[in-house]
Amino acid sequence: MTTTTGTAPETRSFEADVARLLHMMVHSVYSDKDVFLRELISNAADACEKLRYELLSDPALAGDDGQPRITVTLDPEARQLIVEDNGIGMSEVELAEALGTIARSGTRAFMERVAAVREGAKEGEGAQLIGQFGVGFYSAFMVADRVDVFSRRAGADVAAHWASDGLGSYTIQLVDIADAPARGTRIVLHLKEDAASYTEPFTAQRIVTAQSGHVPVPIFLKEKPD
Ligand code: ADP
Ligand code: MG
Repeated sequence: MTTTTGTAPETRSFEADVARLLHMMVHSVYSDKDVFLRELISNAADACEKLRYELLSDPALAGDDGQPRITVTLDPEARQLIVEDNGIGMSEVELAEALGTIARSGTRAFMERVAAVREGAKEGEGAQLIGQFGVGFYSAFMVADRVDVFSRRAGADVAAHWASDGLGSYTIQLVDIADAPARGTRIVLHLKEDAASYTEPFTAQRIVTAQSGHVPVPIFLKEKPD
């Protein structure tokens, strides 16, 4: 079995637009913070769909784990919420591209709208826009003051770790494959004190149940870590 020894964490700055978006997330007064979990589950489902597509041309990528799955784990003691999928995963380069820039059009449109609102209008209006546009992964920083992402791309024999407090920079490094899912992505949210309720089974179950009808991948809820 191949192992990697990992590399030292390298600190990189977010693109200016990401830093602005994160500032909005961190200081968000937007009340429907549940969107963060919907966004993470939707990304996890997208990752499983991408793998399913790649398996058409390269069935060997499935290894011995062909069934797509999303697991949401609650850890009230550590005040953590963990979303894991066994989808396509991300390489170190893909992590930095996906979670360090605003490449995608939805978020870009959101930022343009925010800028337009700032020109003339009222305070707090920008926050309301969060609900109208899907703001994706970065919405995790509405509820978390640190996010760790461990990922291993399908077929790769290395794994990478992305981490950020959402305040302007992130670190990225290669880690031992034992620290990441065998395939796919694990996202660990270190919840803010006022978001601790997301580790309550009732709260998490409500959001997961509502979301499960919208994604083609089964979602499992674990009320405590193994
Ligand atoms: P969107 O889903 O609209 O592209 P997001 O901000 O939600 O935007 O996610 C940004 C990108 O990060 C995704 O396009 C994808 O490339 C990557 N990503 C996020 N979560 C995952 C995941 N669980 N597995 C693989 N890639 C992911
Ligand atoms: Mg998304």
